[in-house]
Amino acid sequence: MSLDHIETLHNELPEVFQDRDVGENWYDDIVVLPVTDPEKVTTLNEDDSLSIWPSNSDRIREPLHDEKEPPEGDILEEIGPDLIPPNGIVPDLSPVITAIFGGSHSGAPVPYTHQPFTPPPECLAFYLPFHYYYPKWWGVYLTYEGVLWLAGEILRLSGHSVPRLQAFQSARLFLYYHEAFHHKVECFATRLELTHRRPFYKTGFERYYQNTLGTVDCLEEGLGNSSALKDSYKKVKSKAVDAALAEYVKLNPPGYDRGNIFRPIFMSVRCRLAEDSHRMSLPHMPRKNPELWRTTPHLFDGVFNINGRVNYILPRNSSIAKRLPFRPCLSPKKLTSKLQKLVALQLVRQGANHEVWKTPTERIVEIPRHPRDLGRGLLRKILKEVELTMGLDEFLSLQVK
Ligand SMILES: [Zn+2]
Repeated sequence: MSLDHIETLHNELPEVFQDRDVGENWYDDIVVLPVTDPEKVTTLNEDDSLSIWPSNSDRIREPLHDEKEPPEGDILEEIGPDLIPPNGIVPDLSPVITAIFGGSHSGAPVPYTHQPFTPPPECLAFYLPFHYYYPKWWGVYLTYEGVLWLAGEILRLSGHSVPRLQAFQSARLFLYYHEAFHHKVECFATRLELTHRRPFYKTGFERYYQNTLGTVDCLEEGLGNSSALKDSYKKVKSKAVDAALAEYVKLNPPGYDRGNIFRPIFMSVRCRLAEDSHRMSLPHMPRKNPELWRTTPHLFDGVFNINGRVNYILPRNSSIAKRLPFRPCLSPKKLTSKLQKLVALQLVRQGANHEVWKTPTERIVEIPRHPRDLGRGLLRKILKEVELTMGLDEFLSLQVK
């Protein structure tokens, strides 16, 4: 499946979707920054390749006209190893995040109330399913403070035998792979919906998840951790990191803590998850041996480009956000509302990835449909397209009523 396929599903099977509008109030409270490559691993003897951007003081200078600006999530990648906190205090998940994105689907963000267990992945990262959040918000969100905390745990649990860069990247990989597993379960539900034309994801799957959450029977969270351990090890190939992550998982709440135990029996447990979710969605069907599902392993394959839907998210007023060496700019929504007033820009139609607008002189302007701030380069390009002659900073500081 690809992004365009979700558009087709959305058009043809609207009954399986439930569009959630998150409004615009989030913008003042949180920053969303894209991660260019969530699976990136820098091997340690290639450290120099990390220095792809100029030094801090240069980063915030005005770029030349056609100079490409560094993706902002990549700056977070670069400075992450230096920001790993030494104290091990679990960061509070911003109440704004749980208020806006909290839900009963698997992968939804939850505050840390699981003491004495370690915070499960959803206190540090979360997944927004396309069944609820297509087209704008769906994808994987890694709280930056959560990645830093887990990196600190990897350092601590490995007795500081792991380099900081490796700890940071391993924490990001682990949380990404865990949340990507929730996406795979959603894709499995979608395939069943395709044949039955009924909303299994938001009914049977969600009910099954909620019935088992917090118990050892919550197979989805155990498998999520198992898959994250397995895939992180494949990428990082460090026994010290693997042992540290396994220790973190072992101390997770019931269900999540099965991650290690499920490792050698991953496929069998996933077959059980498939059969149980199927049964919950279609209770009148006779129960079969879960091993039946082993015959069709591709049913859990994710959308091809999920790794293009990964973001860091952090509170705009957090101490870390204030230390970031760049200026967040303007969200697509704020840009269009300003341009509607300034140049009478009019919406033509919504595309899968872009909104298409036109100027009074019939010039077509495409504006991305995503929740992130638009980069300064793109903003300049759009101002030119709508024939505004003012500079970017003047435009940004202009108050429009
Ligand atoms: Zn999870």
